[in-house]
Amino acid sequence: MEASREYVFQKFCEYYRDPLTVIPSPPHHEQREFGYLMFKERFMVRHRRFASIKDLRSVLADTIPSDVYHSCAYYENPEFDMDKKNWTGSDLVFDIDADHIPTTCNKIHDEFRCLKCGFSGLGITPEICPCCEATKFETKIWACDLCIQSAREETAKLMDILENDFGFSQNEIRVFFSGHRGYHVHIESEVVRSLDAMARKEIVDYVTGLGLAILDKEVKEKKSKGNKASNKFSLHNYGWNRRLKVGMQNFLLDATKDDLKEIGVKNKALLENRDTVIQRAITEGRWESIHGVSNQTWQKLAESIRENQASKIDTVVTTDIHRLIRMNGTLHGKTGLKKVEFPAKNLQDFDPFIGAVAFKKGEAKVLVSDAPEFRLVGQTLGPYKNQTVTLPTAAAVMLICKRRAEVAP
Ligand SMILES: [Zn+2]
Ligand SMILES: [Zn+2]
Repeated sequence: MEASREYVFQKFCEYYRDPLTVIPSPPHHEQREFGYLMFKERFMVRHRRFASIKDLRSVLADTIPSDVYHSCAYYENPEFDMDKKNWTGSDLVFDIDADHIPTTCNKIHDEFRCLKCGFSGLGITPEICPCCEATKFETKIWACDLCIQSAREETAKLMDILENDFGFSQNEIRVFFSGHRGYHVHIESEVVRSLDAMARKEIVDYVTGLGLAILDKEVKEKKSKGNKASNKFSLHNYGWNRRLKVGMQNFLLDATKDDLKEIGVKNKALLENRDTVIQRAITEGRWESIHGVSNQTWQKLAESIRENQASKIDTVVTTDIHRLIRMNGTLHGKTGLKKVEFPAKNLQDFDPFIGAVAFKKGEAKVLVSDAPEFRLVGQTLGPYKNQTVTLPTAAAVMLICKRRAEVAP
């Protein structure tokens, strides 16, 4: 075990001491707090301020951290204690991570075990243990193509909202691969800096479709007043209205009976004259003209579209105005991959298993306890089970970081 950690440590050393390593500076770095987790000692150094990125680089080269962060916030005194820092603003930041997205693969490759009572299971790690209510877990998670694809889809939905509803241009939206199994989206424009936590919560609610008046208030009110099926909700062509409208139209166009069943709708009338249903009800808002389709059915349909179109961001990250976020160009301690920026328009094409690889040379002999098939540096590797193999450096580092391999004796 020691030899394996030492091997990864040496690789991190090479990375941070290589003059060719690119570590871009975040804007106004001198107003930000920096922090890093020490590789060997495992404690977090915080409240550091750097006058130049050159100074930061020399500290990284000396100390070799496993993870490096900076604040999304700007401060007058970033090096002071929290209560004396004097917050002057913060970037608007979103974190999309497979940890928060229910995928079909997390039940296969993600495991958790309660550190207090030992309760264990597969899938998304619960916030509190269902057995003993403890909140600390040991996890063993994997990042597969499906995880990345799911995170990518959630990021695409977020970008659509940021561009089309909030009016940010693609140049204002910076997109990064997080270094593990997700994406970070940063907006650093002047207009977002002064937003307080409440305002950010409003943005989170909008992005996740929480409390949409059109679904939560209007429909329920109308229902409780016992109105007939008339003026259920009229959908206009902007924001969530457009999203619900287009979503319902597209859903009905090629829905099967099973698709309806999945969202809890049994009404066959919806599938009989689809074009008429779509035109009259959804496009023209004449909901009452479709006989036999109840208020409740339309609502269920709209709810499922909301669920589907909402972006599954980690909401805490966006509302926390003091948040530290992984620094661009630095390594992720659980993978050995880099956090790396790519143009927003390349979201679908950017392959993190190539573009985020930090260790491109050499190979290492490792004893792999257990690894599924995976892709890295353009190669397909594994699956491995209790076997000694020679792997490209990046793959050896990743498996050791994930505690699935050790350097072979
Ligand atoms: Zn427990
Ligand atoms: Zn996966």
